[in-house]
Amino acid sequence: MTEALQLDNEKDVLKAYYAGQRIESPMGGYLMLLGVRALEGGTALGIFECSASSLRYEIEIPKATRTERRKVRDVLDAGDDPDCPRHGSGYRLVRAGKDLVCAACGVAYARA
Ligand SMILES: [Zn+2]
Repeated sequence: MTEALQLDNEKDVLKAYYAGQRIESPMGGYLMLLGVRALEGGTALGIFECSASSLRYEIEIPKATRTERRKVRDVLDAGDDPDCPRHGSGYRLVRAGKDLVCAACGVAYARA
């Protein structure tokens, strides 16, 4: 397997990804999500494959901000099940070990 490449428009890619939009690949075609991997410290790595070239790209998905954590904590305190603050409704956070994690972005937003 070849080394994964980096994208130079990561911010735009992440925005489209959170919004559930198709992500255009720099090689033509689209970037398809192969998976997310949780990294140390709450950050995650998104692995994408270009539908046209089959090249692989890795994008670091930033860890939860203080604001995002507070938003999730408020929902928990109200006795509700929080959704991912980035992906929005329909993306319920799931328990993973000690954390509440979004399965789509791999980011931990709260302690379970
Ligand atoms: Zn998410």
